[in-house]
Parts: sequence; C-alpha cells; structure tokens
Amino acid sequence: MKIFCVGRNYIDHAKELGNDVPEEPVIFMKPKSALLQAHTPFYYPEFSNELHYEAEVVLRICKNGRYVQERQASKYYNAFSLGIDFTARDIQNELKKKGLPWEKAKAWDNSAVVANWIDITPDNAKKPVSFSLKQNDLVVQRGNTKDMIFSFSQVIAHISNYFSLNIGDMVFTGTPAGVGECMPGDKLEGFIEETSVFELEIK
Ligand code: MG
Repeated sequence: MKIFCVGRNYIDHAKELGNDVPEEPVIFMKPKSALLQAHTPFYYPEFSNELHYEAEVVLRICKNGRYVQERQASKYYNAFSLGIDFTARDIQNELKKKGLPWEKAKAWDNSAVVANWIDITPDNAKKPVSFSLKQNDLVVQRGNTKDMIFSFSQVIAHISNYFSLNIGDMVFTGTPAGVGECMPGDKLEGFIEETSVFELEIK
C-alpha cells in the first residue's frame, strides 16, 4: 500500500507558506508505516518543536493502473475520507532551505491519519466535498474540494504517469489555508459537511 500526497493544491494555502502556485501537481509519498492504525494513540514526535496539522480529503484507490486518462480517472477510486497530513514544519523548513527531500518532515510513523471511508455513490460522486477541522472546539481550517487547483481526476492521472496505482493506495489531496501548530493535549476534530468523522487527541 502506498500513500500519495499532493502539496500546495489550494491557492490560499500555497500563499500562506510563501510558496508559488504550482503549474503541475506537487507529489510526495508516505510509507505504509505512516498510517496511524485505529484505536492507536497519536504522540507528538520527539524530533520536532513545531508540529502542524493539515486536514485533507483522502481518496481510496480501487483499481490497478498506469497511464490513466483524466476522463477515466474517476473509475480508480471508490471511497473518500478526511485525514490529517501531520507535518514537522520546523524540519520541513530546514529541508526546504537546503533543497532536500521532505520525508523526515512528512513521512514519519503515524503521520497520516484517516477517518472511516465513505463510499462514492452516483449521488455524491459529482458533489464537491466541504470539510473543516476544529482544534479544541474552534474551527481552524475550512475547505471545499471545488477550490483545489488540480481536481481528483487530474491528480490521479498525473500520479499514474510516474507510479502504478494499486488497490488500497490512498491519495491525500492537499490542505486548504489555516494550517497551524498543535500541542500535546490538543483535541483535533474533523468534519465532512457538518458531520464529525474523527476525533484525535495529541499525546
Ligand atoms: Mg498536506
């Protein structure tokens, strides 16, 4: 199983971190060991002093493929969810300055949190997904997939030009503006539309 992630897929978020708006999807990966298993506590990573949450819509790949056409791409995922792409921002800033890869900031154990899957049905397939994240009961991020720079289909087609898509792979589709720091003791709660889909305490 592979976890693909899209960076800078919302204009307001690219700008808040001082990045250019990308001309093609920015893709990075997390290994399988990055996925926080259900009923497992999340611990603040000991190597960071600036842990950021990034709430993102996640897709579940349901079909193997390569060189997928954009117009066929919707056949390659069958469920979506909300997740957090946890980021050690201090480490990432250091790596970015040196032009080094991001794995130590993004791909560490338990850095990927995903709520339960919601099946894609003819009813919800074409609807944009609105989502939000609360930190200690205060809304800190609000997003809507209609504001993505690259659509689900564009992202999947692009990824498949470089990597095989395999059943069970996941795609984190990028975070909207409002990313910020979290601390031990914080409670994060994710919402799709108005429904709470996960609650997580930082230990
Ligand atoms: Mg992200």
